[in-house]
Amino acid sequence: MAEYKFEAEVSQVLSLVINSLYSNKEIFLRELVSNSSDAIDKARFRAISEKDLLGEDTSFHVRLIPDEANKTLTIEDNGVGMSKEELVENLGTIAHSGSKAFVEQLKAAAEASDQDVDLIGQFGVGFYSSFLVADKVEVITRAAGSDESWRWISEAKDGYVIEPAEREGRGTSVVLHLKEEQEKYLQPWALRELVARYADYVSHPIELPAPPADEDEESSDDTPAFEQINKASALWRRPSSEVTEEQYHEFYKHLTHDWENPLAYNHFKVEGTKLFTGLLFVPGQPPFDMFTPDAKHGIRLYVKRVFIMEDCKELLPQWLRFVRGVVDSDDLPLNVSRELLQDSRTVSTIEKQVIKKSLSMLEDLAKGSEEDYLKFWDMFGRVLKEGLHFAPEHADKIAKLVRYKSSKSNDEWTSLASYVERMPEDQSVIYYAQGASQMLLENSPHLEGLKKRGYEILYMTDGIDEWAMHGLKEFDGKRLVSALSEELELDNDNEDEETKKEREEEMKVLTERFTEVLDSRVKEVRVSERLEDSPVCLVVPEGGMHAHIERMLRAQDQDVPHTKRILEVNPKHALIKNLKSLAEKDESANVQEWIELLYDQALIAEGSPLDNPALFAKRVTSLMEGALK
Ligand code: ADP
Repeated sequence: MAEYKFEAEVSQVLSLVINSLYSNKEIFLRELVSNSSDAIDKARFRAISEKDLLGEDTSFHVRLIPDEANKTLTIEDNGVGMSKEELVENLGTIAHSGSKAFVEQLKAAAEASDQDVDLIGQFGVGFYSSFLVADKVEVITRAAGSDESWRWISEAKDGYVIEPAEREGRGTSVVLHLKEEQEKYLQPWALRELVARYADYVSHPIELPAPPADEDEESSDDTPAFEQINKASALWRRPSSEVTEEQYHEFYKHLTHDWENPLAYNHFKVEGTKLFTGLLFVPGQPPFDMFTPDAKHGIRLYVKRVFIMEDCKELLPQWLRFVRGVVDSDDLPLNVSRELLQDSRTVSTIEKQVIKKSLSMLEDLAKGSEEDYLKFWDMFGRVLKEGLHFAPEHADKIAKLVRYKSSKSNDEWTSLASYVERMPEDQSVIYYAQGASQMLLENSPHLEGLKKRGYEILYMTDGIDEWAMHGLKEFDGKRLVSALSEELELDNDNEDEETKKEREEEMKVLTERFTEVLDSRVKEVRVSERLEDSPVCLVVPEGGMHAHIERMLRAQDQDVPHTKRILEVNPKHALIKNLKSLAEKDESANVQEWIELLYDQALIAEGSPLDNPALFAKRVTSLMEGALK
């Protein structure tokens, strides 16, 4: 017998399970049956290439065996089982580094509030949910192909024991020593009810001991009889008319270990040259690792109902990494490997369909319930927008799904379609502004002229928006134009070229002075048509990168060229008018100081850092001194 300590994170999960998840204890059965079903899937998959793996034991099952006398409930399967090392690894540690970080977060959240921790639903507690109903758990297991069996025992304190054991054949038995108040799970009717609710879709037979035969009848042999209590047909292979919404929801929970219902699902069958069935879900909450590089993503792949692999990335692009589900193909070979998947025509055909069906699932969600759609958007919008950049061929469809806050949306999300509906007649393009925060954009000098004309501006505050906008050039025949860029495409200008020229001429002395002072810091200085209340602003030349994106990339150690911007000067502004006369008289060296100050102000207004903030402060102080004299 050897004693082991749980890894710190496991102890944390256990204490969370025991102390925070008391409201829905019965899910332990779903979790354990799911594990058994996965273990059977793995055994069946390995048996494809390892001929003798199964021996004579070829009919798979999960059995629920209540024992009144000992107050135990055993969940038994003839799946792959576990070796001693696997027991330690699987039931004593949390392997994934992202999961570890998440457990830390959970723990902090649990300590900060004494309520149920909602977050835990994002993290499958799986096996550890046994301790919701049991105070002691034994796992007796034998790995397929091995003749050694092991027993793992724990009372969920700080460790567990592993010792050699006896077991007939491969597989795993989880023996739950039920807590006194949980003894109802010894009743066959209670187990039937739970299986009907939580595990009817499991594609392997779930069995209970058959009721004892009549006393008078001589039983022909001693082996106990079992009866199957679920349908045991893969849910995705059933016609959708025969599956209830509740069953879809339960299947989703079985698949993902999520505790919440999905926001949407799409069950479909594709016929034609390639035959496959798919069942896709939009989760009700984001996975904890969505923005980490090793985020789990992809679809569970089956071939002719045989489980092949988890997280099959080949069937789902990155920008749909929030979609969960199952694909069951009739065309792929059973012994398909990752390498084979990568350049399989069948796979790319399936992927195309999966993308199409995912997008139509989202369209339906948007049509069906605004509230649910916005819930989706809040969680996954940033991911979906990646598609505008990476999959421009789907940009038209994605464009219908994107939502932004805007200068007229009162802090609500708006679609591009409703933006277009609100456009005044004289507006011909869609305006957007990018920046680090909505507040910055709301007060941005760049938008003054557009707002005065009654034009709406979409606010884009995600890093991905810069790239997304390169992918999405137009919507509904209208170009998308950055309000921060050189060319605003204002075609309702009443002013003729002549007047513009005259004004430029008038301002020439001042703009030249600006150019002289700012020199290599700006690309150009010019008279502005977009400014109303602010004296100056910096705009991005055609094809250039927005300043906040440049900074973001630098912060990530990426080598990006610096885009020199154009300084625009507002000829209507009193300060500029005064500065102009000052410059024309050319008698004050102060002009240079004013220009420096205005330039720094333009940087501050857009949220950019100053090269020399101390110098800026000094200049402001000296100005204030002058003003207060
Ligand atoms: P998850 O199922 O989310 O991976 P669990 O804590 O439920 O997390 O299980 C951890 C691991 O233990 C599983 O990934 C699996 O490798 C192993 N395991 C659990 N139950 C069984 C079982 N009945 N048969 C074989 N392996 C199992």
